[in-house]
Amino acid sequence: MADLQAIVDEIHEELTPRLGEGKVADYIPQLAHIDPKKFGMAIVTVDGEIHTAGDAEVPFSIQSISKVFTLTLALGKHGETTWNRVGREPSGSAFNSIVQLEHEEGKPRNPFINAGAIAVSDLVLAGHTPREAIGEIVRFVRYLADDETIAIDPDVAKSEQATGYRNFALANFMRSFGKLTHPVEHVLGVYFHHCALAMTCTQLARSGLFLAASGRNPLTGHTVVSRQRARRINALMLTCGHYDGSGDFAYRVGLPGKSGVGGGILAVAPGKASVAVWSPGLNRNGNSLLGSLALEMLTTRTGWSVFGP
Ligand code: GLU
Repeated sequence: MADLQAIVDEIHEELTPRLGEGKVADYIPQLAHIDPKKFGMAIVTVDGEIHTAGDAEVPFSIQSISKVFTLTLALGKHGETTWNRVGREPSGSAFNSIVQLEHEEGKPRNPFINAGAIAVSDLVLAGHTPREAIGEIVRFVRYLADDETIAIDPDVAKSEQATGYRNFALANFMRSFGKLTHPVEHVLGVYFHHCALAMTCTQLARSGLFLAASGRNPLTGHTVVSRQRARRINALMLTCGHYDGSGDFAYRVGLPGKSGVGGGILAVAPGKASVAVWSPGLNRNGNSLLGSLALEMLTTRTGWSVFGP
């Protein structure tokens, strides 16, 4: 195998002069304060090797990357009936767009745009209070990463709760079509809290490892999902994980990935490794500018791709 430590060090070094490029998300006031020059990268291989560079041990707001974990939980609870509530098609629209929802009568295109993730939060809430559902999500992520220290940043959750007008609009719109079964405040309480999970690149890469290893976390030996489900979650990450930039990410990086407006990206190289990067400056689609570039450099240098050897 390529010398992965040398590769992550090179990527970090080559990108250092560019740190600060892109635009930090400021529509969530608490995220606007983040130092735009932060950069972290962590690779965890299916053999358990860990390679990191830069700020890989600094926690950041994982935001929409959490949608991979809530989808996994919802599929565990509801199985294929999950797809009665949310579709599996790329949206081609912005992460917080409301336009398609009207045409499609409140059924969001996929579980990774905001509307879709809000529908998934509604599914995770089934049979629980919001507090229990949030607790279940945190426990699940801790179990995936095998790290009991992972927690939600309450200030980020509050900041979003106070200013999440778009998400309230999306949720109310879905509720008007009868597509949410719980009160909007409860569903959004769950949604805002899982988006506010704070994790380091290393924790994130560890928590995504089951997707690179056929559903089983090779570090803990736990089977998280079936082989088929892992493949299917990867398929959704590939087609929908970067909003209206998903095609470009597939073209340039060639791996399933999920981004968040905190500047993180989780990428999965099946059979090889799980990779997390963090650089807060975003491109115009709301995906980390240097994070995508770092992953493109990584896959160019390692030859990792889901599209061919
Ligand atoms: N919590 C963010 C929002 O709802 C998530 C968006 C993202 O990470 O893309 O606006």
